[in-house]
Amino acid sequence: MQQFESFRASSLYCNKCSKAMPVREKLLLVLPDKEIYDYLCTGCASSLGQREVTAGDRPAPPRARRRPGIF
Ligand SMILES: [Zn+2]
Repeated sequence: MQQFESFRASSLYCNKCSKAMPVREKLLLVLPDKEIYDYLCTGCASSLGQREVTAGDRPAPPRARRRPGIF
C-alpha cells in the first residue's frame, strides 16, 4: 500500500526492484490550483506514486487576473 498524505517521500518501495528505492520527483502536470508530481524509481524509472501540491502548500502567486474588459 502506498500512502501519500503530506510527507515528502525520498524513497519508496519499488515492486520491480523488490526494495525501497530512492525516487526522483518529476513535475507531471500543472493546473491552475495545483501541481502534480510523479515519483520515479531511480533504478528502473517506473512510477511509484504521485503527489499533489495545492496552492495552499506554497506561497500564493501574486494575483494577476484581469477581469474581462466590459465597458
Ligand atoms: Zn525500481
